[in-house]
This record gives sequence, C-alpha cells and structure tokens, in this order.
Amino acid sequence: MQITEIFKSIQGESTHAGLPCVFVRLTGCNLRCSWCDSEYTFTGGHRMALEEVLKEVEQLSPGGGLVEITGGEPMLQEREVIPLMQKLVDSGYQVMLETSGERPLERVPGDVVKIVDVKCPNSGEPNTFHVENLETLGPQDEVKFVISDRADYEFARDFAARHGLAQRVRAVLFSPAFRKDAKGARSASHCLLDPQELAEWMLADDVSARLGLQIHKFIWDPAMKGV
Ligand code: SF4
Repeated sequence: MQITEIFKSIQGESTHAGLPCVFVRLTGCNLRCSWCDSEYTFTGGHRMALEEVLKEVEQLSPGGGLVEITGGEPMLQEREVIPLMQKLVDSGYQVMLETSGERPLERVPGDVVKIVDVKCPNSGEPNTFHVENLETLGPQDEVKFVISDRADYEFARDFAARHGLAQRVRAVLFSPAFRKDAKGARSASHCLLDPQELAEWMLADDVSARLGLQIHKFIWDPAMKGV
C-alpha cells in the first residue's frame, strides 16, 4: 500500500483523544476539503507491504495499544487496508479508521472503530457521504462534523437529528475547522469558527453531540506534521 507516514503521537480528535496512538497515514484522497490540513498526503508516499507496516507499528507500540488508520482517504486502498486492519486487530491492537465515508464501509472488520467525517457544506465537498454507510455504524463508532460557520452547524445538527445519530453511535462530534495555514501560537484563534460560539449554539439547541477540539494543535505548533 502507499504510505505517507507512520508515527506515534497523541490521539487528538475523538472520544479516544489524549491517548497515545500510532498513526498509519495512507497516501491519496479523492476529496479536496477547503480546510484540509493533510494536503501533503495527496501525492508521494512510498510503497510498503502489509508485513512492513505491521513491523513498524510493533516497533512503535510493542504489545498492543491504539492504532489509527488515516490519510488522505484510506479506503481508496481498500484491497490492502482491510487485511491490514484485520491483522492489527488479530495482533491485539485497538484499531480506529478515520474516513470521509465516501467509499462503502461494509467490509471494514467489525472490531475496527470507524470515525466517519461527514462533510459539511463549506468544506467544499458536500453530499459526498455514502448514506448507505449509516447502516454499517454501531455503538463503538463515531461521526464527526468539521464546522466552519453557522450553515455548517445547522447542517450537522439537522443531519444528526434526521438520522438519529446519537442513538446509533458512541459519539457525535462537532469540531470547529482549523485554518489550514495556521502556525506558531497554539491558540483557538486559528479556528475558522470560535469554539465558544459553537458551544453556545450547541447549548441553545440542546444538541446531543460532543464539542471536539483537535488537541494535537494545542499541544504542538499547528503547522507541525507527524504529530
Ligand atoms: S477527506 Fe480528509 S484528507 Fe481528503 S481533502 Fe478532506 S480533509 Fe483532506
């Protein structure tokens, strides 16, 4: 499979946020979100066999722990990434898959936690979520909305209510979008939408969702890669 990087850091944006985690970042994406902070994954990378990826994960986190399969869009390499996820599960890792949900997810192994990033209107990639994927989501999975303005918020609020997401998955995450050119100070001022404003909207509407911040961007320089 084509890999951009494998590294160990702190999981930053789910109910597992704060835990040590090995990230396997696959190369390539078929979307072009306006605020994407991973454009360096669109091209390049290097070929690695499943066993090579496994070996690197084991070196970084011997004997188990959390592994996140991310990208780019990892499901573009479904033929190789599904056996990788299964092998990691069989080796005792807790595996998470970060995906836009644009590709079908029914073949993802049942023990893998899916973090599905449903694109809001101002991402520039609305209506890309494959709605049949809702049927693949269960009580361990999470659905995330990256929100950059009021229109995005209303989309996320209404989508979550219409599909009963709070009853379907472990967590519904509303996360303010971060400026993709953010660097230097580790500060909420880099958010395209003030987290305080988002929190106030959520409280006013009594939304069954969790406010999420990308904590790795508050721990390290937001421009830093491989964290
Ligand atoms: S799906 Fe993810 S990697 Fe692809 S463009 Fe959007 S934010 Fe970037």
